[in-house]
Amino acid sequence: MHWPRGLAVKLAIVFLILGLVPMATVGIIASYVAERTMAEAYIENFVERVARDAAINLDTMLRSSRRNIDLLGASSSMRQNVIALYAYQREERGYAQAIADIQSDLNDTVEILGTVDLLAVVDLDGRILVTSNLARSPVSTGRLGGLPAGPRPLWSDESSNPLEGRRDLVERAWWREARESTSSDIDWGLEALVLEQYGYPPFGDDATDQPDALRERNAEAYAFGFTRAIHQPDDVAGTLGPQAILVAFFNWTAVQAFLDNINSEFQNQHEQYRSGYTFLFGRDFDTVIAHRYRQLYGTSLIRDHGQEGLRQAIEQSPRRSGHHYYTYRVGKVAGFAPVATTGWEIGFGINESDYLEATRRMRDLMLVIGLIVAGLIVLFIAVTSRRITRPITNLIKQSNEIARGNLDARVETSSRDEIGLLGDSFNKMAEDLKASNKRLVQAEKTAAWREMARQVAHEIKNPLTPIKLSAQLVERAWDDRHPDFEAILKESVRNIVGQSESLRKIASEFSNFAAFPKRDPRPCRIVALARDCVRSYENRASSGVEIRFESFLDEDIEILVDEDEIRRVFYNVFNNAFEAMPEGGLLSVSLFRLEKDEGPTLDIRIKDTGRGIAAEMTERLFEPYFTTRSSGTGLGLAICKKTIEGYGGTVAIRSEEGKGTTVCIELPLDRLRPKPTADGDAAEPVS
Ligand code: ADP
Ligand code: MG
Repeated sequence: MHWPRGLAVKLAIVFLILGLVPMATVGIIASYVAERTMAEAYIENFVERVARDAAINLDTMLRSSRRNIDLLGASSSMRQNVIALYAYQREERGYAQAIADIQSDLNDTVEILGTVDLLAVVDLDGRILVTSNLARSPVSTGRLGGLPAGPRPLWSDESSNPLEGRRDLVERAWWREARESTSSDIDWGLEALVLEQYGYPPFGDDATDQPDALRERNAEAYAFGFTRAIHQPDDVAGTLGPQAILVAFFNWTAVQAFLDNINSEFQNQHEQYRSGYTFLFGRDFDTVIAHRYRQLYGTSLIRDHGQEGLRQAIEQSPRRSGHHYYTYRVGKVAGFAPVATTGWEIGFGINESDYLEATRRMRDLMLVIGLIVAGLIVLFIAVTSRRITRPITNLIKQSNEIARGNLDARVETSSRDEIGLLGDSFNKMAEDLKASNKRLVQAEKTAAWREMARQVAHEIKNPLTPIKLSAQLVERAWDDRHPDFEAILKESVRNIVGQSESLRKIASEFSNFAAFPKRDPRPCRIVALARDCVRSYENRASSGVEIRFESFLDEDIEILVDEDEIRRVFYNVFNNAFEAMPEGGLLSVSLFRLEKDEGPTLDIRIKDTGRGIAAEMTERLFEPYFTTRSSGTGLGLAICKKTIEGYGGTVAIRSEEGKGTTVCIELPLDRLRPKPTADGDAAEPVS
């Protein structure tokens, strides 16, 4: 069943727009703002803070290392012993004692600090006087595992130091500064003396088939350090100049382990910042000196990684502290901060996907909730609007019933709202309509019968007068013994017979119209019937009327009708046509088949070239007793209409005054019972 859904759909759309559009807008804005806020106000700050905290902590660590070296270099025992070295000859006992004392101090420091690889006291010419000979305990054995746990002597022969007298350090870049200032730094790098003593492998992996650039470096092979001038014991302010220089090489694992600790903290503890890790650049803000990927040691930020932007950001930031967005395989943001003691730059990078994860998750959640809410809204609207529109659709349905003529249609009204009231007034209207319809039908019936009675009386009165006059004339002629009595009698009798015939005609037509003669429908070959009717008029051809007949239908087609009724229809229409052509003309009868929406239809056209009908009269043609002719009854077309409509057909008249008239009769073809033929309806006119 077709169910009007318009209102419900409109309501649903309105609610959806009202509900969803603002919700979606707010959601999109919220997730955008959240993302931007996270990125700008939060993560930038965060990465910078982590970098700065790391830099401060690393700096503190380095500072304390340096302090320890400073303390050692400035200790009075160190000063005394260094002076003793100059005071005694090499062979003297005092010299050997001083060497032993210094070495003991150096070894103690190595053992206590745990991160020092080698301590050396060097004279101002760069000649090594004495070094520590205790190997530090490894900070982290990592994959190497080769270093023994616990301090051990670097060489077996206690008395002779293999490094004594060597002048390698003079060639180092930092030597000049060490020679000229009280305290100075030794930058990150590989130190041959240390490597020589410890035998650190340069790579941390076994991938010997790989080019060096791709191999993992051994953090333990790298060193950094500090130097400290050793002054005379009484040179409090250092004005007399240094006597010797204390050189301390720290193992790089001390720094790398510091960074690794931060990295693992992020990996293990901060869900949102899992990708966060730290790295360290040298003083040039370009050379990578510490990284979780040891392969990157010594690589250049610009040359090897194409990160010019990061380097620029560092250079241009006030106090070298800030943040920078960049892409290194994935989108990242990094914070950076300087390590004050050594001038290195520490960085902390994090993947965009990490820090946006929280907001993305929030957005997804919002999306899911939004969809659920939208679904609920749609469901709610569907139910509600159905409830709202159901009485309305019912009202429409019942209105259609009334329009179709069923005046008993009513709607149920249960609610007391506007729709309920509408239903009530609908029912009242239907009730009134039914009542007034009944009255109208009654009134029409009465009027119709009254009119008919009047007409019949009138029609009957007309012939009665001449009958009465004729009868009186005969009587008077008889009484007067009129000489022409015989002639008068004959004339009068003829007159009376003629008028009686007229009366009979009136009576028979009236009974045709009013008596509803019993129908006897039988299958009837309509083409043959029409042709037969036409033929019976052909002998009137003397009236000057030419008759043509053509059929575009199968000759065998049958139709279920009362043959006499259809014949009368043809005769009535033919009569009218002949009466309209007193001077002769052309009467053509054609049969067609029409394909109409309501089904195949038989179309009969009867066309004359008579006087036609005035436009103002066409409306009344089918009214009973409407006639323009003195001898007409005005029942012909009324009977035709009644007959044809009785078979579900229609009659229409098109006419042009002075030119002619066409009567179109249409009968539904499903009343036809076509005999099964190969080609159906004949295409050629038959006749
Ligand atoms: P009647 O023939 O008794 O007048 P009808 O109902 O047959 O009654 O016709 C009503 C009127 O319609 C006729 O009086 C005539 O004026 C008009 N009429 C019908 N058919 C034609 C026609 N073919 N040409 C002109 N006028 C016609
Ligand atoms: Mg007629």
